[in-house]
Amino acid sequence: MKHTTITIDGPAGSGKSTVARMVAARLGFLYLDTGALYRTAALAIRRSGCAIEDESSCGAVVARSHIRFSGDRIELGGEDVSSEIRSNDISELASRIASYPPVRTALLEIQRSFQDISSLVVEGRDTGSVVFPDAAVKIYLDASSAVRARRRHDELAGKGVLISYEQVLRDMELRDQRDSTRSSSPLVVPKHAVVVDTTHRDIDGVVQKILEIIEQSLPDQ
Ligand code: C5P
Repeated sequence: MKHTTITIDGPAGSGKSTVARMVAARLGFLYLDTGALYRTAALAIRRSGCAIEDESSCGAVVARSHIRFSGDRIELGGEDVSSEIRSNDISELASRIASYPPVRTALLEIQRSFQDISSLVVEGRDTGSVVFPDAAVKIYLDASSAVRARRRHDELAGKGVLISYEQVLRDMELRDQRDSTRSSSPLVVPKHAVVVDTTHRDIDGVVQKILEIIEQSLPDQ
């Protein structure tokens, strides 16, 4: 059976994860969070003790790591690391190692393999441009950096993390710049993607808008 893939790309704090999860639930599709794969790869590299600046060793560590989704959780070597990968230092490390081509190559096949299992809503930075260039519908979510940093700050505060809004904004702008300027699979608006600005929309409004776009492109869904 031919499965349908919908990609949602965009910068940190654009609302991708929440929106992609909700759209997937509404359509009955599998939700794939590719950022979680990069975060788990970063954790694997940190735990391995390999030199962070050594791109090929980092790629080799990721290639032999056992990263697996199990329902809503992500596992590294059988251990549930879903919470550990959400820390600020893993955000920072993930953004660094995500610029290494050997790391991206090691994660590419894992991402594509999900297409064989189910129809997908997949979110990340290069899912419409590189991982699934033939996706049926491509969305690019964006919002001002001030609003994205506010959302991320609220999320961290909700988890009890003490960090200033200014620091979150600085970290986010650094990650945005790294994600957009790296030579390997930079964050771009994919060809044929529909851009949805979430600055002045709430989550339900964004989900509704995306469902309308999908309905127009795929009337049978
Ligand atoms: O989306 P999230 O913040 O969890 O992603 C963590 C990091 O992983 C990002 O800063 C980005 O550098 C990297 N990433 C990527 N390509 C993807 C998904 C995430 O480079 N498809």
